[in-house]
Amino acid sequence: MLEQKINEFFGDAGSTGFGTGWWSGILSAFFGFLSFGGVLCLHFPQLLSSPELRPHYPMHTMRVLIQCLIVGAILFGVISSILRKKKILALSGMLLAIAATALGGSSVEINETPHGGLAIGLDWFLLDLFLMALIYVPLERLWPQYPQQGTFRNEWTLDVVYFMSTHLPLQILSFLVLLPATQATRYLGVPVLQEFIARMPWFLQFFLAVVVADVAEYFIHLALHKVPFLWRFHSVHHSSKALDWIAGSRSHFVDDTLVRGFILVPMMLGFSQSIILAYLIFVTLHATWTHCNFGPNAKWLEEFLVMPRYHHWHHTSQKEGIDKNFAIHFPWIDKIFGTYYFPEEWPAQYGLDGEEISPNFLGQTIEPFTKRKRTR
Ligand SMILES: [Zn+2]
Ligand SMILES: [Zn+2]
Repeated sequence: MLEQKINEFFGDAGSTGFGTGWWSGILSAFFGFLSFGGVLCLHFPQLLSSPELRPHYPMHTMRVLIQCLIVGAILFGVISSILRKKKILALSGMLLAIAATALGGSSVEINETPHGGLAIGLDWFLLDLFLMALIYVPLERLWPQYPQQGTFRNEWTLDVVYFMSTHLPLQILSFLVLLPATQATRYLGVPVLQEFIARMPWFLQFFLAVVVADVAEYFIHLALHKVPFLWRFHSVHHSSKALDWIAGSRSHFVDDTLVRGFILVPMMLGFSQSIILAYLIFVTLHATWTHCNFGPNAKWLEEFLVMPRYHHWHHTSQKEGIDKNFAIHFPWIDKIFGTYYFPEEWPAQYGLDGEEISPNFLGQTIEPFTKRKRTR
């Protein structure tokens, strides 16, 4: 298996604690990979950058970022190779950074004038992977609920593939998500409602949008659990046996599309495009957050807003937690509909309750269309 090969090639039996050269090696390889990808995007903007994002890039900042990543990869590579016996990670990072520099580094001129046409969203994949890892990995390493569960736990490569699958074909995704969100408000909007909502303070509009979205999400999520045909798709999301920030990416595209469509349609009746866009950013950050391997809790907050422990109970395979906690933002929505379950402790096990699904991305993508599975 690929994951095993990667682990064997890069990993070793040494400690992964601070000061052992492990994290500097990881950072070197990660920064090297990002900088190399970034330089490729500068060389082939037509093919590798998303037409939707191109016009919005502050190019000077992006070039400084690529330069910092190259320097970072070399610097952490040197530190890691001094501290650690196995130097593959450090070497890979430094080689990628050197390759990025040899290809022109951050100063590659953009010669062509990119126009429309099919492109791979490599820029979006690299940028979002960098931002998400920057936000969530330190939180999970500093305050983990399950400290023995590393960042590179079982099936991490599978979830990276899912992350890629929702980022690289950005045009397909944006057609499904952003296009209706920005265009269809014109056709779907109810003018009286739009005017009424637009008069409210911005924060109230936003709060109301999250409530509307979460109520809509509640019902489609309930259907994904209760309708056997839909559960075939949603069971992919529930197949993770360990949760962390990237486990939230594991979701069948039919599941994603259904949920987004179901949330966006009621929102488009009354909310402005800027509120919908703000919601899309919020839901990405919050939904990722609720999957995190993050222990600390604030009592006053977790009653009002979904915190990791709450959504972790949604992912348990223990009988008492099955078909509970469907809300993704507000636990009190589950309270209203009678599906609230939130004991003091954390679940002891995660994943599917006795069901088997394909272990790989392709199998998980095709299987729900073809195979009848035992349902709950
Ligand atoms: Zn679910
Ligand atoms: Zn989840």
